[in-house]
Amino acid sequence: MREIRTNYDETKGNEIRTLCLQCDKKTYHVILKSVDEHGREKYTDWNFNWDTHFQIIQCQGCKTVSFRKASLNSEEMVQVGENELEPEIHEQLFPPRLEGRKGIAKNVLRIPKSVRCIYKETNTALMADLPVLTGIGIRAIVETVCKEKEAEGNNLLKKIDSLVNKKLLTPAGAEILHNLRVLGNKSAHEVKPHSVEQLSVAMDVIDHLLMDVYILPFKVKKAFKEE
Ligand SMILES: [Zn+2]
Repeated sequence: MREIRTNYDETKGNEIRTLCLQCDKKTYHVILKSVDEHGREKYTDWNFNWDTHFQIIQCQGCKTVSFRKASLNSEEMVQVGENELEPEIHEQLFPPRLEGRKGIAKNVLRIPKSVRCIYKETNTALMADLPVLTGIGIRAIVETVCKEKEAEGNNLLKKIDSLVNKKLLTPAGAEILHNLRVLGNKSAHEVKPHSVEQLSVAMDVIDHLLMDVYILPFKVKKAFKEE
């Protein structure tokens, strides 16, 4: 037998520490509104209980409002003391976010539309914990930049080297892109996901590439235009 009970604002006013979208670190958030579901499934010799809290939350630093879903159940526990167990909280935040990953922020408008679309999607995939799609997206960004800059060569390896010849990329940067190229290959052909840490570093490299190729040249041009 399955029962669900729904309460409103049961967790309203509570304070939690979670990752803020704007502050890019864990901050105190207050729960402004909540819908709180309590479920119970009865079996002949045992019960399964679960709680799901849907909450509108607000950062107490920057006041940014976002959404949190916190789920826990009677089967998954974590040890908090020597003989003390507590239900493990599974937290999902919307929009999704990843600590230390601000990306190129508003500078995204300085990159060409073709690159921008795939960059935004890949960034969202990374933050939504979709590692296979992130790997494929990273390769697609490198390919799109090569195409947009009319890199020469009949494969991606040669095209990346051609960006060095065009003085758009340093040899060190090319070396890293070759690693990302292999990473994209593995994601696409072996459907092998990489760790979030690896992918996050790979996206940092992409950010540097976009800074060097598009954003800094634009800023330099704008700043020195009058001289
Ligand atoms: Zn904040």
